[in-house]
Amino acid sequence: MNSDTINHMAAAIRTAILAHEADIESLDREIGDGDHYINMKRGCEAISNIAAELAPLAAADALNKIGMKLLSTIGGASGPLFASFFISMGKTLKTVATPASNDIALAFAAGVEAIMQRGKAQAGEKTMLDVLIPVAFAFTQLAEQGKSAAEIATALKQVASEGLESTRNLLATKGRAAGLGERAIGHLDAGAKSCQVMIHAVCDQVLARPDPGAI
Ligand code: ADP
Ligand code: MG
Repeated sequence: MNSDTINHMAAAIRTAILAHEADIESLDREIGDGDHYINMKRGCEAISNIAAELAPLAAADALNKIGMKLLSTIGGASGPLFASFFISMGKTLKTVATPASNDIALAFAAGVEAIMQRGKAQAGEKTMLDVLIPVAFAFTQLAEQGKSAAEIATALKQVASEGLESTRNLLATKGRAAGLGERAIGHLDAGAKSCQVMIHAVCDQVLARPDPGAI
């Protein structure tokens, strides 16, 4: 992974988020305040606008810059959470010259841990973490087992979709939906949907490479 890969992934994420406007927007309208799509779009545009500044940077520095940019551009609960993810990922990769799949998996897991700390949340609270925690766990395991990038990407898409679906029947205990009690049951979490969309976009891009190489 280098800043070129990161810019390509960011572009794929932006396209995917824009393509899912209707479902992301309506999920946050049903059990949130309806602004999650706008927040995600604003974050994607901000990263797209700094692509040229990211290009000369090492992967770790590019990830840190993305985090700082998101912190100053996305509002809502999700902005600082996504910012923490990228800043922590960057910090973890700082000492790694050419990150391989297992380095990226560890950095991803550190990013998810940073979201948990910042949001004081765990798995099972009907948030983005219900996608991110199982994906981080599977990613670390598969990378440790030496699976190929294509195998990892295929598996993580499945794990992300299962994580999203798992939010449907959960009570929300964090975020705006926490005040809704039983009324939130039957609805998917919007942040979990955004994460599933982003993970699918990145994994599809890995799978489309002639030689998927490292994630
Ligand atoms: P806001 O909730 O301020 O309107 P967004 O709509 O952008 O912000 O983001 C809402 C999403 O953020 C939720 O769907 C949920 O996935 C996630 N979220 C909210 N609070 C937390 C938290 N404490 N920990 C993890 N994720 C959270
Ligand atoms: Mg919202």
